[in-house]
Amino acid sequence: MGNIVAIVGRPNVGKSTLFNRLTKSRRAIVNDEAGTTRDRQYGKCEWEGREFSVIDTGGWVINSSDVFEGEIKRHVVLAIEEADVILFLVDIQNGITDYDLEVAQILRGQTKPVMLVSNKADTFEWQYGVAEFYKLGLGEPHMISAINGLGTGDFLDKLLTYF
Ligand code: GDP
Ligand code: MG
Repeated sequence: MGNIVAIVGRPNVGKSTLFNRLTKSRRAIVNDEAGTTRDRQYGKCEWEGREFSVIDTGGWVINSSDVFEGEIKRHVVLAIEEADVILFLVDIQNGITDYDLEVAQILRGQTKPVMLVSNKADTFEWQYGVAEFYKLGLGEPHMISAINGLGTGDFLDKLLTYF
């Protein structure tokens, strides 16, 4: 029995960057090209003396909308099955996309706890854009920057409360 956290979200939102930050590794390949084919990565994170497992749900192949449709469901359904808490990453610099809406819909229809994480909030200025994410119907968005670490301490404190 462990505490398992799965990171889901559309390509390029920063899932692998967050995974690497949480696990202090460079195992997950960070790529600028959306849809880089990579499978799931498993790692461990320790925060405030507590340990939990992290899953990076990897690259989605989105060559066609059909493939995306299948892949999106496969990754999100697997995450829901495996995880105790689901981290749903969105990109605050990009705003809400159709893909985000699809994932949000799947996540709202299940019972595992979901933390909505607005990534790429590299400076405090981005806080003015966070309100739109309430529209996803998944509660409070947590602002972080996976790349520079802003907000990640508060986010991890909150995450621990789900275990
Ligand atoms: P994934 O496809 O969701 O796994 O996304 P990646 O982790 O591969 O990141 C996609 C791109 O977004 C890369 O160029 C990252 O450097 C960049 N990125 C990830 N996190 C952040 C962040 O917090 N701020 C900014 N500005 N860029 C980020
Ligand atoms: Mg990735």
